[in-house]
Amino acid sequence: MKLLFPLALAVIFAILYFIPRTLIDRRIARQNEWRNRPNLQEYLEENPKCRTGRGVTCKYCGSYNIINRGMEVRHDSKRIHTCRTCSTNLYRTEFYE
Ligand SMILES: [Zn+2]
Repeated sequence: MKLLFPLALAVIFAILYFIPRTLIDRRIARQNEWRNRPNLQEYLEENPKCRTGRGVTCKYCGSYNIINRGMEVRHDSKRIHTCRTCSTNLYRTEFYE
């Protein structure tokens, strides 16, 4: 019974430390992923074949099926564009309000 209190304390500490730490690490990883992608102009300069009359294509598989998602939340002004065919993050955009 004497071990129960320190054990409970250790479990509470682990929860209070590791859950926020994991969330922070994921947020940093998403921010780094966004920053490491080229913007649309850089993407098209590096891959001129990806600019077509119909729109922008994936540089890996040539698909037109590209979705954009908010970096952190659904309506985030920082967008990352991902090919839906090969699931590769291609480029970033940012909207200013
Ligand atoms: Zn692709």
